[in-house]
Amino acid sequence: MKIETIAREGYEHIARCEDPESGLRALISIHDTTLGPALGGMRMWPYASWDDALFDVLRLSKGMTYKSAVADTGLGGGKSVILGNPKTDKSAKLFEAMGSFVDSMGGRYITAEDVGTSVEDMVILKRKTKWVTGLPHEMGSSGDPSPWTALGVFRGMKACLEEVFGSGDFKGKTVAIQGCGHVGMYLARHLHEAGAKLFLADISEDRAKSLADETGGQVMDPSEILFAECDIMAPCALGAVLNDDTLPKLRTPIIAGAANNVLLREEHGLKLKEAGILYAPDYVINAGGIINVSIEVEPSGYDEARARAKVENIYIALKRVFEIAKEQGISTNEASNRLAEERLRAASAKA
Ligand code: NAD
Repeated sequence: MKIETIAREGYEHIARCEDPESGLRALISIHDTTLGPALGGMRMWPYASWDDALFDVLRLSKGMTYKSAVADTGLGGGKSVILGNPKTDKSAKLFEAMGSFVDSMGGRYITAEDVGTSVEDMVILKRKTKWVTGLPHEMGSSGDPSPWTALGVFRGMKACLEEVFGSGDFKGKTVAIQGCGHVGMYLARHLHEAGAKLFLADISEDRAKSLADETGGQVMDPSEILFAECDIMAPCALGAVLNDDTLPKLRTPIIAGAANNVLLREEHGLKLKEAGILYAPDYVINAGGIINVSIEVEPSGYDEARARAKVENIYIALKRVFEIAKEQGISTNEASNRLAEERLRAASAKA
């Protein structure tokens, strides 16, 4: 196994691994450990080149630093990528080699499943390193992150309602959910219980319909859900849904959902602000999963009650983000970036 270091300004450590025996070609990027060990998922993707993989791992690991800083998890930001096709290139040998690569970071990088990797892959990884989370419940781990992500989005929505309507009460409020998958489903149940009225859409019509049956919601066409007249629009499917084409057609005062990279570009956050729409920055409101995992890596081990209490940080963090945005006259996405940077600066100054 050959491991080399790659230098990049602004990143603490980047390593590249090639292992001809297992076929492993992978990168680990540790962006920042000021606040704690760098936690971030392991992505497997058929990247066209090492450069493409490096670009992705750099971008994703930096994003994890910001997400964890605002969520106050006591963790830093990192990510790893395996160059390969998750459908055809997986083997036990490959993930054992990846486990050894992760282990060579000595605990500065902690991994979890991500796009292209699964719980089963993490179980193989565990043979070679203890620095892995997202294992099955029976292995003392925190399990599926989706219910936690949904709970965090629900709590974040309350902060949004308070900001826009002066009350966090969901009764009689309408919420449109784009995507009734893992997160969308749990989110719809919380909202229904709290008295909200739901509009639901999914490209899998059955999924939307069965959730509508369960929650008394109304099914909408997936091409129309984003433009539904509602109190909260919750993107829980795809990224980049807020762009020059869609923005003028929105009929909601609040955007708050689980999907990653909802804004096509950062400037679309400013356009939302100018349109008088409150945007809950994606990486702040969808941090429930990472908060849950952060409890798993605490020395005392995983504790569900503690995770539940800590997801409350999302409500608090959003309140702070909205405050900064108002004080400084900036978009909420810019405000959350500044909050993360402020926390990193304060921690560096203390160290
Ligand atoms: P999922 O794959 O379980 O669900 C996504 C759903 O969206 C699917 O049911 C899919 O059919 C539907 N969909 C796809 N395209 C659509 C469209 N154009 N219109 C309507 N529906 C469409 O994924 P998930 O785990 O629920 O995650 C949802 C989003 O939240 C993703 O963007 C994910 O990256 C993000 N996220 C998830 C978590 C988590 O804990 N699962 C954490 C953070 C962020």
